[in-house]
Amino acid sequence: MSGSINLSNSASARIVEIFSSLQGEGIYLGERQIFVRFGGCNLHCDYCDEPRTIPIPSGEVMELNQFHSEVSRLKSEKNHRSLSWTGGEPLLHVPFLLSVMPWVRKEGLLNYLETNGTRVEAFKQVRDLCDIVAMDIKLPSSTGRELWSEHLEFLRLIPKKSFVKVILTDKTTEAEWRQVIRILQESSPDIPLILQPATPIREVRTIKPALAIKFLRQAQSLLKEARLIPQWHPIWGLR
Ligand code: SF4
Repeated sequence: MSGSINLSNSASARIVEIFSSLQGEGIYLGERQIFVRFGGCNLHCDYCDEPRTIPIPSGEVMELNQFHSEVSRLKSEKNHRSLSWTGGEPLLHVPFLLSVMPWVRKEGLLNYLETNGTRVEAFKQVRDLCDIVAMDIKLPSSTGRELWSEHLEFLRLIPKKSFVKVILTDKTTEAEWRQVIRILQESSPDIPLILQPATPIREVRTIKPALAIKFLRQAQSLLKEARLIPQWHPIWGLR
């Protein structure tokens, strides 16, 4: 998949919202973060809980000075450990990330990148500025696309302290799960794997509990660390 598409420049980007909240997914669950939600995505997952961010373009153009003042304001109100780049797909905004990630670090925050793990060339450009990567492995039953080779290449690049998440629906197959384990064994068997049962939305139903537990046991026997953690922000009533 090409890494050449960019929806931003170094001085502005299309941003849907900036806000402070608790991380609701994965191994950093419950940490207070500043969230920067970009507009635009290169995928179309059936379980997407932010479909307003998929169209290209989506979000409003925000200039650098406005971005700095929004983040500084949120930072002055509460303690945050990290800033979560989310979307949409943040790796469609590389020039903006290159311009602001060093400033975020100077402000004392970690750069926490949430990504669909498909834009390998884009990631190579910002990799050294990312402290934590929360990478999804996207299953063909949810996206209609085979993305194994992009994911495999991406997994070889992600830094320590990162984790991988897979969202499981009632359409997830055992063959898909074997592929997930295979690419993790090939690339990064030490990275924590999070099984996240899909939050029901529109026509999407979650995985049957017995199958999720079976997948968890398989992962725990073949990888260093695997856990099953649901998405907590709908349960907490947070955005
Ligand atoms: S990659 Fe994320 S933002 Fe894009 S469609 Fe899938 S869930 Fe939505």
